Amino acid sequence: MDMPGQYPAERKRRLDELFDAFSIIGDDTYVYLCDMRYDISRWSRTLVESYGLPGEYMHAAGEIWEEYVHPEDRKAYHEGIDAIFNGKASDHDIQYRAKRTDGEYDVCTCRGIVISDQDGQPEYFGGAIRNHSKQSHIDTLTGLRNQYGFFEDIMSHIKNNTPMRVCVLGIGKLSEINEVHGYGAGNIVIQHFGRYLMDHIGNRGGTYRLDGGKFAVISETLTYDELKNAYEALRAYFRGGLSVEDAFIALELNAGTLYIDDFNTDEQTVYSCLNFAYDDSKIRKHGDLVEFQNKLTSDNKARVEKLHAIRTSVNHGFDGFYLLYQPVVDAQTEKLIGAEALLRFKNEKYGMVPPDAFIPFLEMDPVFPKLGEWILRTAISGAKAIQSVLPDFQINVNLSYSQMEKADFTDTVWNIVKSLGFPPEKLCLEVTERCRLLDMDLLKNETTNLRAGGIRLALDDFGTGFSSVGLLKSLPFDTIKVDRGFVQKIEEDEQERKLVNNFIDVAKVFDADVCVEGIETAGMRDILKSFGIHSFQGYYYSKPIELESILERLRTSAGALCFRK
Ligand code: C2E
Ligand code: CA
Ligand code: CA
Repeated sequence: MDMPGQYPAERKRRLDELFDAFSIIGDDTYVYLCDMRYDISRWSRTLVESYGLPGEYMHAAGEIWEEYVHPEDRKAYHEGIDAIFNGKASDHDIQYRAKRTDGEYDVCTCRGIVISDQDGQPEYFGGAIRNHSKQSHIDTLTGLRNQYGFFEDIMSHIKNNTPMRVCVLGIGKLSEINEVHGYGAGNIVIQHFGRYLMDHIGNRGGTYRLDGGKFAVISETLTYDELKNAYEALRAYFRGGLSVEDAFIALELNAGTLYIDDFNTDEQTVYSCLNFAYDDSKIRKHGDLVEFQNKLTSDNKARVEKLHAIRTSVNHGFDGFYLLYQPVVDAQTEKLIGAEALLRFKNEKYGMVPPDAFIPFLEMDPVFPKLGEWILRTAISGAKAIQSVLPDFQINVNLSYSQMEKADFTDTVWNIVKSLGFPPEKLCLEVTERCRLLDMDLLKNETTNLRAGGIRLALDDFGTGFSSVGLLKSLPFDTIKVDRGFVQKIEEDEQERKLVNNFIDVAKVFDADVCVEGIETAGMRDILKSFGIHSFQGYYYSKPIELESILERLRTSAGALCFRK
């Protein structure tokens, strides 16, 4: 609005000054200030825009705003404002719903105080309106921008075609620090780390706290070498230890980075790639900085673009995803007893994309659990069709550790199994040793719950990680699947034969069956058959094939012997 003629310029200057002082309060809090003598107010521009108020400067703003307050909350609002203007109250703290331009209501808390003049007469009424529906962009512990701010800043770089280097870095074993030294000490470590990071790397861009001990930096100028040097210095500093309360705490760090100068992507894909590099740093590189796909940049771009297309499909009816089924046969009779569902992606631009090219990158993506549900539902539906011909048919479905991390994971599995009326003992969930990244208590609860209802559990790629046996000790597996890497040369290699025999002994200790993957020749089959293995899977019997092909073979050839060579 135009300033009313009778509002003196001097008063306006003062109003603006005070308003600026109030505005320092900051992020996601709207500020208002009313000069009570003239009933002229100034309100935050963001609030004016979100709710469609007449302008930043308003006369009788209290009455104007009342129109936006939910009818049920209006009486309380009105009384509160009246009390302020009648001099009956000197502060104000009320919650109400306010209507946005799109007609939806936000829940807001409005707090304010009266500032009096030298004579004790009310002069200004000012305060803040906090919108609870809006996610805050500031992390309260460190004062840094948080995950929402991080995503927003990546999006705006992408939108403005501004190249950036993004780095996700974090404190390893934060939960251990919390357990041993207490949450208070953990918080001090986080604060100290955030501060130091901002001063030593983040000063070249923005610093963010994502969650837990994970932080990020976005910079438009930092090169890979500069980042690497700065990160090494940071590592050395924190390895030297921090004095926190009475304790001395040394920190181990992990970091992943990605350079983006192609904008045909979105913030979630960027984050998935970063998480992949970060996990790689943590699991395989002992904390060294890992650049996402440390290859040619053009390669890099193509990869990110492809991943983006794939993740987008999840939200577009899983378009392009389908399952193939690889038969599993009884090792003695060589009859078909089940199959493993294996995910594929195919579209016109990229052709068929094997799962290894996208699952490891999307595992950490928030869309992955949704894809996981689709896989489970589709695989079980497929298995039901096969069971109509072969009632004892078992379906194996691969899980990613990130699916198991979700609080509703077991409920989701049970809902799917029940809604499809599938016999739980014919479903086997395969997990890999990567699940040890999760909280063991959580995993124990989940696996116990699933097995109590009859669902089977397999430990996939046994022997490829470094804590296979440890995991068998902690979790109840029905089957261990021996990776094909251990049997490739079994016909000529005495050592491989010994190793596989050892695996069989280990499985016996834990009362588990053994399934050997990657059977490619009759020779491999003969040797392994004599070892007393439970089941086989491999190209010798069949590559992963369409559901229809399995059904077709079951119908037209010798029943369950259809894959015997
Ligand atoms: P995996 O679970 O170990 O699956 C077995 C892989 O070995 C499959 O590759 C299969 O095609 C291949 N294979 C089987 N027999 C032979 C053989 O005789 N010779 C050779 N050379 N290879 C054989 P695929 O389908 O490319 O899957 C790769 C990995 O992707 C899987 O390894 C699994 O870790 C992951 N994956 C596949 N589908 C899913 C899924 O639905 N969910 C999740 N979370 N992961 C999946
Ligand atoms: Ca598997
Ligand atoms: Ca496997």
